[in-house]
Amino acid sequence: MVGETELKRLTEKYDMGNVPGYLSYPVMPHWKHPIQHDDVLSVFESEGHAGTRDGYIYFHFPYCEALCYYCACFMQVTSDPKERYDAYIDAMNHELELKFHRFGGARLHTGEMHWGGGTPTYMNCEQIERMFRLIERRVEWSSSPNISIEAYPDETMLSDEKLRLLASLGFTQISFGVESFDPTVLKAINRKHEVTTLKRLVDKSRGLGFGVHVDLVYGLPYQNVDSIRETVNSILSVEPDRIATFSFMYNPLEIRHQRVFPRNSVPGSYERVRIYQMLDAQLTGAGYTRIGADHYVRGDKDPLAAAAKRGEIIYHYQGHEPLSRETFLGFGSASVTFAQGRYFQNQVNDMKYMAALAKNKVPVITDASALLSTDDRLRHRLIMKHILSDLTIEKGSLERNFNIVFDNHFNRELSRLRDMQLDGFVEGVDTRAIHVTSLGRPFIRNICHVFDDYYASSPGTAPSLG
Ligand code: SF4
Repeated sequence: MVGETELKRLTEKYDMGNVPGYLSYPVMPHWKHPIQHDDVLSVFESEGHAGTRDGYIYFHFPYCEALCYYCACFMQVTSDPKERYDAYIDAMNHELELKFHRFGGARLHTGEMHWGGGTPTYMNCEQIERMFRLIERRVEWSSSPNISIEAYPDETMLSDEKLRLLASLGFTQISFGVESFDPTVLKAINRKHEVTTLKRLVDKSRGLGFGVHVDLVYGLPYQNVDSIRETVNSILSVEPDRIATFSFMYNPLEIRHQRVFPRNSVPGSYERVRIYQMLDAQLTGAGYTRIGADHYVRGDKDPLAAAAKRGEIIYHYQGHEPLSRETFLGFGSASVTFAQGRYFQNQVNDMKYMAALAKNKVPVITDASALLSTDDRLRHRLIMKHILSDLTIEKGSLERNFNIVFDNHFNRELSRLRDMQLDGFVEGVDTRAIHVTSLGRPFIRNICHVFDDYYASSPGTAPSLG
């Protein structure tokens, strides 16, 4: 580990506030292609005809009980989840009808489904079952599907009855959004959690056969190395199967509610790296296997652990995922689809989403999709898989799959990587495999950025410390 002075120099040199979080490539601000109703239906039709290939389906549930001030998700607060979710489920059903119409009665083969939000567990039992049945009649599950749901760790919202229902429907994994256990941090971000509550929920979930995941955010206001140590110790006490850590996406210019945080309460790049190093040391020290730079699994039961062992993982909107989920089909407001070399997103606002469906139109944002060129696909694979998931750029694999000579194609990028090699972030730049080092892991977005051709042509368009 480098000393304080050197780390401060590196965090000043590689300003994390000027590189985007890579949930996609290209990143969303560079999605500039128009897309129409029929284009979307053609994508779904082609995926339907893909036949035996298992698709990954994502369903977005936008409503929450209260606003967490750090939140960068597409969500809305409501005190009336019954009425809002009833109308929303009607709209989701309409979206399913439109998109599956061209399947000609065939079902979508899938082994993977995730419900995220917002807060899907804010639906009541009747709504959850109704939504599940609407999906179920259009899909054909693989022999042992992974069906996961995000949950706020609250026993009133996630009642015993709801847990039992989720198990009986076939959900296999629950992700608890914990984020922190530090009272100062929780108060600042407007969340309420207690370790004892999480422990009871985890025990009940395990008793019903669920795999248990915990999400943790680092870089939150007032967080420091000591507070993250305490939070991680509490999380370890419930022994989750998977711990997914995410860097706080701080962007008060665009996310207005984040303006409640005094600027100096948000850890800067140096503190953020220290916090990351602390949690990484604790989790790996406790026997968890690191996946990519920031996910951790215990044992080998978790499907992500098995996929990582085979080198078949990729990073995207839901974090690290088995490579079979590279293609994903999104439903619900704000959901993103990546299929047939194209990214597109549904209307973010629930009213706009429902208004499009009321006109019998797919609710897509028509002026902002990404149609990936061959070079985009190469860089997508390099960034989302090789760097973010494998922490190793295998030149030979990219040369075989994309018919390039790596060192010629990326001549400009390699000269920048050589500078990063001098700073200790990567090794082997002039060999056949470039490795991200332990020092380089917290700077991984800076390493991705080297290969981002959109910023090479129009730099400085995504300032967010995420
Ligand atoms: S519960 Fe989740 S989605 Fe809802 S406001 Fe909080 S962080 Fe955002």
